[in-house]
Formats: sequence, C-alpha cells, structure tokens
Amino acid sequence: MAIESYNPYTGRVLRRFRAFSWAKTERILAQAHRAAAEWRTTSFAHRARLMHRAAALLRERQDELARLMALEMGKPIADGRAEVLKCALTCDYYAEHAEQFLADEEIKTEAQRSFIAHEPIGVVLAVMPWNFPFWQVVRFAAPALMAGNVGLLKHASNVPQCALALEQVLHDAGFPPATFRTLLISSDLVGRLIEDDRVRAVTLTGSEPAGAEVAATAGRAIKKTVLELGGSDAFVVLADADVALAAKTAAQARMINAGQSCIAAKRFIVEKPIIREFIAQMKTHLLALRTGDPLEETTQFGPLARPDLADELTQQVEDSVRQGAKVELYGGQSKPGTALFRPMMLSNVKPGQRAYSEELFGPVALILEAQDADDAIRLANDSRFGLGAAIWTKSAQRGEELARRIEAGAVFVNSLVKSSPEMPFGGVKKSGYGRELSHLGIKEFVNQKSIWVG
Ligand code: NAP
Repeated sequence: MAIESYNPYTGRVLRRFRAFSWAKTERILAQAHRAAAEWRTTSFAHRARLMHRAAALLRERQDELARLMALEMGKPIADGRAEVLKCALTCDYYAEHAEQFLADEEIKTEAQRSFIAHEPIGVVLAVMPWNFPFWQVVRFAAPALMAGNVGLLKHASNVPQCALALEQVLHDAGFPPATFRTLLISSDLVGRLIEDDRVRAVTLTGSEPAGAEVAATAGRAIKKTVLELGGSDAFVVLADADVALAAKTAAQARMINAGQSCIAAKRFIVEKPIIREFIAQMKTHLLALRTGDPLEETTQFGPLARPDLADELTQQVEDSVRQGAKVELYGGQSKPGTALFRPMMLSNVKPGQRAYSEELFGPVALILEAQDADDAIRLANDSRFGLGAAIWTKSAQRGEELARRIEAGAVFVNSLVKSSPEMPFGGVKKSGYGRELSHLGIKEFVNQKSIWVG
C-alpha cells in the first residue's frame, strides 16, 4: 500500500512512499524498546542540550518546513513559519522546565522520608493529524523525550514528508535515532502496535471514531491513553461586548488554518440586541481575507487539506440549510472534488440541524442567537464537545464567572482560544481526556511512583 503526498492546491501527487510492512515496523519497535532502556538513564542536562539544538534547527529550517506544509496540506507559508517557530519555543520550554516539573515531590507522612518520583515509562505511540503537522507532534515529542521516554510517530497519511522532516530535525539535533521514529504505516497496523507489550501508552489527536478505536484497543491491553479529539468551540458575544473587536477576532478565530483547527471558534453565540451588527461586521472581515497559492506570502487562507474534506463540509452545509439554517454569506466549493472552500456563514442554527450538533471542520461560521447571558451559556454547553470556548464582555469579572460555567478544557475571556506551552491543553466530553503542554502534559506519560522510606 502507498502513502501519498498530494498537493491540494494543484491537485498533483508530489511523492509516493511504500508503507512499512509489519516486519519493518516491528524491527523499529524493537530498536525503540532497546533505546528506551538507555535513554531513561541520561541526565536532564543532556536531554536539554539536544532539545535546545532541535529548537535551533527548527528555526533554521523554518522556510523549508513551512514550504512542506504548504505543499502537502495547503497551509499558507507565513502561517507555516509561525507554526515552526511555536514548535521551537516549545522545545526550549521543555528543555528549560522538564527537570523542575519532574523533580521529586516531598510528601509529609509518618515515614522518615516519603516522596513521589516521576519516572519514564518507555515507548509511547503517537497517532497524529495533518492540520498542524509539526505542532501536533512537537507538543507530544518535546515533553516525552525530556521525560526520558521514546516516541514512535504514526502521522496522518497525507503528510509523510512533514513526518520525515521532523524525524530528521530530531536526529540532526543529536537524539539517538531509535528514540524518535516516524512509522510510515496505515492505520491498520496501529492496533497491532498497541497490543505489543513494548508499547507502553498511546496518545492520539484526531477524530472521535479514531480516538474511540485506539482507546478501546488500549483499554483491552491495559494501557494509558491521552485523547485530543474534535471540538465545536463556542464564541460567546454578550450585549456589553466590544462588538467591533469581537467580530474582527471572530473572523480570525474561525479562519485559523482555513477553519481546520480543533480550537477554531465554530459556534458564534450572540446576544439578540447586537446580533445583526455582529454578523455584518464579521462578514466584512471574512470577505476581506485573501485566498490563493499557499506558497505566496500574501495568501491568508489556502485550500482545505484534501478535496474529500471539502466535499464533506459542503454536504454538512447543504443538509443544515435544508434543515432550516439560513445562509448569511455565500462561499464554499466552486465544484465538487476540489479543495478550495471560501468562507461561509450560517445563521438560524437550531437543534435538529447537522450544523447544531456536528463539528464543521472548515471555514463555516455558525451563528446562534441567545436571549441573554444564561441562554448563551446554555447553548454553549449544549454540545457533545468541550474543548475550548471564548466569552466577550466588557466586564472581566463577569467573564471569569461565566467562564467557570462553561463545560470546556479552556475558556478565554476577550481573546481567541489558543494553545501555549505554559498552559494545559485538552478537552472534556467527546473532545477527549488528558492534558498536553504545561507541567501537566509532561506528567501524563510518567510513572508517578511513591517512595516510602521507613
Ligand atoms: P483522523 O481521521 O482521526 O486522523 C487522525 C490520525 O488518526 C491520523 O494519523 C489517522 O491516520 C489516524 N487514524 C484514523 N483512523 C484510525 C483508526 N481507526 N485507528 C488508528 N488510527 C487511526 O482525524 P483527521 O480527520 O485527520 O483530523 C480532524 C479531526 O481531528 C477533527 O475532529 C479535529 O477537531 C481533531 N483534532 C483535534 C485536536 C485536538 O488537539 N483536540 C487537534 C487537531 C485536530 P490516517 O491518516 O492514515 O487515516
């Protein structure tokens, strides 16, 4: 079976890779398992030196890596560079903080001394999506390697060149090759890897069905999982908000990565007195965005990553309109089977429509009308997902109070939802469980061992 690198802007196949057989995959797993025994004995200082070097290489190669993303999944080149720089920042962050995060934690008991030690667990399998081909992997790999674990990456099948380029960065930085390997495998082999005793845990970022399947297999094998799944983030705009700023940020938040971000704002829940003004202003900002070749510096949004994703989004929009949603801004695909999807806006989004209950993974803004702040919170929580949310109000205190009532892994007041190395990232409900980034992320895959000295 071939793994294909395909340019969604030109429709051309860039490269084909032969997928690894199980025999080859198993050989790499055996090497990783052996490497884990060595790697765990290295000092934090040594790991940090290599991780800082990886950060420097990412900065050095930002143009080349951004170009790969533009070619393989349509990300505008300027956004690609920003993604690579964020990866470098995160490598530096864990290089600087891992030792302190994983230091022994003294606990007062009747023992002479008792404490929690944080020890590596071994080989961790990472199953990753294509939307932020470097960022998704680095936010797993940087803490995992710093903790003394070893990583095996099964990346999305449409970004093999990005997967190999990141592996190269880590190897060139001096990480022993077997401590981080890219496996060019289809998802069929993931189950077999999880069942192997040498794989100690799994992290998956992706869709609900993939998460459920991986977690079920891991559950049968008694292995820990972290799942970062979909989201349908609410962006709540209260009547007292700065509407101009909220509408401008709303357009930006919906259009992150051409709308293909788990934490892109997807449901805009707006109080009735300001809803028309908000729609008008957000529309103006969406219309002002420039599309074009992702390799051009001036392009602000490119095609979706694959034509089938655009076809699926069109289907969701058409079904929702048939079910009663109203088109406020016409856009979408010019014809089926093509990846470019212009921004759209739907209002009158109500229960019973696909747009109300499903994640729309592309540039379609959904507008929901709220009667008051309580109604807005009710609507925000009426979702199977719980990844991020934003609240816009002039009162920071009110924003904070309402933030506590929203069922999500993160709530931002008067800002768009974003991830940063210092703050934990993850969801509740069908958005998954576990946390990445921050001091919590690095502790997901360590043995938190109690040591009691009597
Ligand atoms: P996806 O189809 O689930 O793919 C994600 C990864 O899982 C890919 O490597 C894929 O491999 C693999 N995979 C798919 N089915 C699998 C299975 N049954 N067993 C094992 N592995 C499997 O997701 P996607 O369409 O690429 O990404 C979009 C989804 O990811 C959205 O729902 C989005 O919200 C979510 N997401 C969440 C976050 C977060 O941090 N919470 C971040 C980004 C994206 P193949 O490519 O080979 O199929």
